[in-house]
Amino acid sequence: MTVFYTLGDKLYVNITNRCSCDCVFCLRGSGKGVGSAETLWLEREPDLDEIKTAFGAVKLDGLTEVVFCGYGEPTERAEIVIAACEHIKSKCNLPVRLNTNGLVKLIEPAFILSSLEIFDSVSISLNAADEEEYLRVTKPKFGTETYSALLDFAREAKKHTNVFFTVVDVIGEEQVQKCRELAKSMEIPLRVRHFVGNNESYS
Ligand code: SF4
Repeated sequence: MTVFYTLGDKLYVNITNRCSCDCVFCLRGSGKGVGSAETLWLEREPDLDEIKTAFGAVKLDGLTEVVFCGYGEPTERAEIVIAACEHIKSKCNLPVRLNTNGLVKLIEPAFILSSLEIFDSVSISLNAADEEEYLRVTKPKFGTETYSALLDFAREAKKHTNVFFTVVDVIGEEQVQKCRELAKSMEIPLRVRHFVGNNESYS
């Protein structure tokens, strides 16, 4: 069971295969593994002790960042993701990032946003510049309220940590440009990632 895997100089944390979206460009649809991981499909979700044990076995030499990002949305396990981050921060000096779809308040309404302070940064998948396009490309189970919830999350999260949006370039230049304008209006940086599939480009 792969909980930690590397790609380049980053260490990734794979704690769940659950996700409330079904994005048309999700890597889960194009292969089993990413980077050093043969497969990111989990037999079951690791508990906190298993995550701690697995982290203890990781060689940190040469790594520059720890990123919660696997074959699923980390905040599907919001409590565990915070506790695992706290553990990692207590054991090393590497910066820790959360990659998220930004829907934790729909997944877990009781989630306390100030707990994001434990992360050095939070990367939010913006995916589209308007609700209609967002619903088309991400197919969220929460329906029409999802896009506004994502934007609300971003506005609130940036009060507690460094936040940036990401989009993949496969959404097209017109959408990318609109995303740039939206991100600018919210005073949140936007990173545009070149999408080339598993093992080559993963935020
Ligand atoms: S939010 Fe991420 S994990 Fe979930 S379907 Fe979209 S790309 Fe895949």
